[in-house]
Amino acid sequence: MECIFCNIVNHNAEAEIIFEDDEIIAFLDIQPINYGHTLVVPKKHYDNFLTVPQEELSRVIKTVQYIAGAVKRSVKADGFNVISNNGESAGQTVYHFHFHIIPRFADDFTFKPRFKNYTDEGIKEYADKIRSVLSKYKDIYNG
Ligand SMILES: [Zn+2]
Repeated sequence: MECIFCNIVNHNAEAEIIFEDDEIIAFLDIQPINYGHTLVVPKKHYDNFLTVPQEELSRVIKTVQYIAGAVKRSVKADGFNVISNNGESAGQTVYHFHFHIIPRFADDFTFKPRFKNYTDEGIKEYADKIRSVLSKYKDIYNG
């Protein structure tokens, strides 16, 4: 399948590249939420956050920290979001894993989740479900 980010990695598609090494590339989002909105992308193709090997993910997140500081200073942002959209319902549109660094300014916009009325029992029920699944994946976790 044709992947726009793989094309950028291979320099077969245009992008405003701001950082590149052997494993990682970072470039500006072509539909920025704010100027300076940057994507940090492992050069190898992985569909999403869950399929990136841990070692590589560690390298990517260190690079995100390095670049986020530079982005924040460059655009004189008040703050920034680091976001990874995973799956269509979460707004993922390119299925080559990446982090967004989004510069933020006082009162620029707010995320508006659809809040429901959550109960303490409901929260505990989901905590139990998550703990149960976590215990099944304990062996592959290498924190
Ligand atoms: Zn790709």
